Amino acid sequence: MSEQETSSATGHSQRPAIAWRNPPLLFELSREGRLGVELPPVGVAESALEELLPESVRRTDLAGLPEVSEVDVIRHFIRLSRRNYTPELSLYPLGSCTMKYNPRLNEEVVRLPGFANSHPLQPISTVQGNLELFWALEQALIQLTGLSRVSLSPAAGAQGEFVGMLMVRAALDKRGEGRRYVLIPDSAHGTNPASAAFAGYQVKELLSNEHGTLDLEDLERAMTEEVAALMLTVPNTLGVFEDQILEIARIVHSKGGLLYCDGANFNAFIGKVRPGDMGVDVLHMNLHKTFTTPHGGGGPGSGPVAVGEELVPFLPAPLVNSGADGFTLDFDRPDSIGRVRSFHGQFGMLVRALAYIVGMGGEGLAKIAENAVLNANYLRKGLEGSYHLPYTTPTLHEVVFTDKRQTASGVTTLDIAKRLMDYGFHPPTIYFPINVSGALMIEPTETAAKEDLDSFVEAMCSIAIEAEEAPELVQGAPYTTPVRRCDEALAARKPVLRWHPPEAADS
Ligand SMILES: *Cc1c(COP(=O)(O)O)cnc(C)c1O
Repeated sequence: MSEQETSSATGHSQRPAIAWRNPPLLFELSREGRLGVELPPVGVAESALEELLPESVRRTDLAGLPEVSEVDVIRHFIRLSRRNYTPELSLYPLGSCTMKYNPRLNEEVVRLPGFANSHPLQPISTVQGNLELFWALEQALIQLTGLSRVSLSPAAGAQGEFVGMLMVRAALDKRGEGRRYVLIPDSAHGTNPASAAFAGYQVKELLSNEHGTLDLEDLERAMTEEVAALMLTVPNTLGVFEDQILEIARIVHSKGGLLYCDGANFNAFIGKVRPGDMGVDVLHMNLHKTFTTPHGGGGPGSGPVAVGEELVPFLPAPLVNSGADGFTLDFDRPDSIGRVRSFHGQFGMLVRALAYIVGMGGEGLAKIAENAVLNANYLRKGLEGSYHLPYTTPTLHEVVFTDKRQTASGVTTLDIAKRLMDYGFHPPTIYFPINVSGALMIEPTETAAKEDLDSFVEAMCSIAIEAEEAPELVQGAPYTTPVRRCDEALAARKPVLRWHPPEAADS
């Protein structure tokens, strides 16, 4: 289709078909008898073989497996990788996701044989180094958050939230208080209401004010003794810091409630302020965002939860303890909400996170917050002449624009996002947060250099001009990607998860 549209009047395509641009599946590459590797004869007599591998378990044909050469395989995966977008390629400004560069040093460290070859079922005495790593990471996170203890178990931010809310519930049960509601501002991350509901609470939404922050009078009205907790995203999804957080904590605590802080975007204030000092009782962090463990495509993740004194007894089991006999896994925790994951956390992510923390040091970590905020504000300045900025409150690590100026000529946020791909950038997060119509949520992260930011601003400003002068150009984008516009709803509702050989396609 794109070939056709770029054809010249003489019928020659501006973009001749290149065979590898749309690589076939490995199954389709299969040619009968083609080999990837030739193995020497087994050297075991047929009679002995019968004893080792009885007929019943032996395969007689390889039907359905692709027969391909080594070079077929290598080319196949290299071709696929060229259709990917990664932070190693260019700016990846996906708001709220913190797609920053992951240092290669982390990868070196996690592949050290002592880490890479250990198994969670080994006896504790043989994995003392691993337990020491858990302990050291917990101590670092305690220092950074100002809270009392940290569970490293949760395997994602959303699971951290769920674990946090289960602990809130357990603590209130212990007090003998059956509270029913959790307050959540409309500027919270979308997973917050789901986590509260999963933990058995009814969610009450609070509306943000014209500054994009929580309205204290509203909170005062809503905060009753029926409310278990307030779940506050800090900074909120507008990239705005709740500057009244001390007062917010006071109001919540005055009615016996607990303050949950969604600290997935800790990178915005790490090393600057500590949640424990702001009155937060329970907080989750996303190691895969702030602490540079690779993520994307749904995993892996790591969402440790830090708690103040009151919630310590309820932390998931086990916790790693340090004592005279070395490091131990403590399962003897009668008030614990229990085990929340098989084995103990996403070990590889934890190794990378500690490598990152140690590599950066305390001052280095404070610098990441400074640079993340500086970069977001640099983009804000560069773009505010071309795009509508719904909230003028100071920006932390990300900034939210809208398509309000472009919709006049029929160009929407989706069109702008698609057009950015033609300029070689991953689009920002779109239509989120939901309290902003046509949102474009941009998070450059601290690993973007000034040159990256300048070329992104240039691309976005060119698109704003195109939207005015040639709206249909933007509406038709993208033109340069392997596939053009997909039916996103259909892709989610009727995913095609299995390949069938052509002859069996309709069975
Ligand atoms: C990413 C994010 C989450 C969810 O984290 P997952 O690891 O994707 O489950 C929650 N809250 C905020 C503010 C986030 O940015």
